[in-house]
Parts: sequence; structure tokens; C-alpha cells
Amino acid sequence: MFAISVVVIACVGANHGVLIKGGDALERAQKVQFVVFDKTGTLTQGRASVTTAKVFGGMQLGDFLTLVASAEASSEHPLAKAVVNYAHHFHFFSHLPEDKQPGKGEKLDAFSGWLLQAEDFTACPGKGVQCTISGKRVLVGNRRLMTDSRVTIPMEAEAFLIELEERTNTGVLVAYDGALIGILGVADPLKREAAVVVEGLKKMGIEPVMVTGDNWRTAGAVAREVGIEDVRAEVMPAGKAEVVRALQKEGYVVAMVGDGINDSPALAAADIGMAIGAGTDVAIEAADYVLMRNNLEDVITAIDLSRKTFRRIR
Ligand code: ADP
Ligand code: MG
Repeated sequence: MFAISVVVIACVGANHGVLIKGGDALERAQKVQFVVFDKTGTLTQGRASVTTAKVFGGMQLGDFLTLVASAEASSEHPLAKAVVNYAHHFHFFSHLPEDKQPGKGEKLDAFSGWLLQAEDFTACPGKGVQCTISGKRVLVGNRRLMTDSRVTIPMEAEAFLIELEERTNTGVLVAYDGALIGILGVADPLKREAAVVVEGLKKMGIEPVMVTGDNWRTAGAVAREVGIEDVRAEVMPAGKAEVVRALQKEGYVVAMVGDGINDSPALAAADIGMAIGAGTDVAIEAADYVLMRNNLEDVITAIDLSRKTFRRIR
């Protein structure tokens, strides 16, 4: 009786676009008390785009964007992709100098002839990237990256940053040769269903939590928008699993929903790991559930399914 039900439920789950790895995971979901959500790519669409760019000091906007994009070109981070995209569009709308233009038949999207050579590229997880361009050190990332390298953030820049963060934007700071030269604002809209799902979980007696590597002000603004009160921000990649374990130590049954490489330890640590189907392979590998439609409503579907199934069996 039990085994047959589990097979049936797995099929119902598949109809909803939820992949469940085994009956144990299905049974555990009914007991969930906390759902910990990653922010970027999980609550948000993961389609970050630059909303604004401001240069401090003398550099031309075009040169500034070329510099930032050249530093970010080797990064896989969604913020990096947004920045490169923006610079790309800026240049092709404002015409590149002749020697930097694409040749005949060359695809615009793939053309990278306008980028500068970046040497000694290093990604600093949870902070940003560093490299050397034209013999000078370039840093692109958050406040922590700047303070770690003793780059001062002028008052005018700090004020601009705060303004961005209050509007749910993430500020991308850029330093060249030890001085802050500009900031870009990057926004990633919430998924359409995010607020409804958070509300639904609360009605089911489940506590939603948001965990992110992003700064406190942006995280707080996004959390307010989506209706989550319990926020953990500026969490370094290894720290997400710690958040899950701390709740478990208090005796709670915890689900984690995430999409990124840095979410996978937390997905594995959680009683129920739920990966966004469009997320990275590492996250999907670590999870018990895969939300194939990338729709957060399926978090509720999965818990509901478990509750209904095991109520029926008992
Ligand atoms: P999360 O996936 O939770 O947003 P990450 O650890 O990927 O957290 O990133 C945390 C923060 O580090 C970002 O919000 C950003 O400020 C900074 N960061 C990381 N990588 C980059 C990058 N390539 N360019 C700019 N900023 C970055
Ligand atoms: Mg993410």
C-alpha cells in the first residue's frame, strides 16, 4: 500500500512539475516548519539588469563601462552578466571607434573586440572580482571588497549607494588603482508569484526566511517587498548551510529553496532541499526536490502533496 502510494504521488508531483527524489523526501515535506529562501534567482527572477551608472572623478562613462565589463567578462555571476550586457549595449548604441568595431558577418552579441585585456583575474566569492588592466589593479564588487583592499568610499558615493539599496538595487562598486571611480545599480525583479507564496506559507503555519550574500539594506528592501520578516544578509557562501543548521539545532524541520552553487551546501544540509530547475547542476544534484517549472508555487504544491498523502495513508 505504502510503496504504491509513493509511486502515484511521484506521478502527481511530476504533473505539477515537481521532481521528487524518493519517498523519504516526500514524507519529510509534511513536517516542514521553516522555508529558507535564497534571494537572487530564487525569490527574484535571476535576470539582473543595470538601472544606472555613475562615475566619480574624471573618467568618461564609456571608458568606465569598458573597464568594468572587461573585469567582469570572466565572471559567471549574474551581476557580472548584467554589467557586461549593459556596457555592450551602451557601446553599440553610441558607436565604437572604427578599430574597435566588429567585422563583416561578425555577430554583435558575440563580438568582444571592445573589451580590454584583463590579467590576473580572481573571483572573490561573496564579494566580487579583481584583475589588472593596463597595469593597474581593478576591483569590482561590494563594500566588503573595497574595505578589504582599503579603498575609501567617498561620502558622495556612499549616499548614492544607500539610495540605490533602498530601491532594492545592488550597488556594484568599481575601484581603479586604489580609488573608487564609479558605481552601478543593478536590479533583479521579484518573481511574480513570490509574495503570494510567502503569504501562503504563513497561512500554512510555516515560517519563511530569506538568506543572501547581498547587503543588509538591499536584502531588507526586497524582503519587505515580498513579505518576509526574518532576513539573514551578508552571508558568505559557506554561511547559508550554517543558517539551516542553526534552525535544525533548535529542533525545527527546515526546507531550503535555492538555485546557485553557493546554495548547494545548504540544500544538502536541509531536511528538504528544493532546487530551482533552471538553477545550476550542483544545486539540482544536492536537492531532494527539483521545481521544474521554476515557479515558487510548487514549494507549496510539494508540501501540500506530502501532507495530503501521509494523512491518507495513516
Ligand atoms: P547571493 O547569491 O546570495 O546573492 P553571492 O555570494 O553570489 O550571494 O554574492 C554576494 C554579493 O557579492 C553580491 O550581492 C555582490 O555584492 C557581490 N558579488 C559577488 N560576485 C560579484 C561580481 N562578479 N560582480 C559584482 N559583485 C559581486
Ligand atoms: Mg541564487
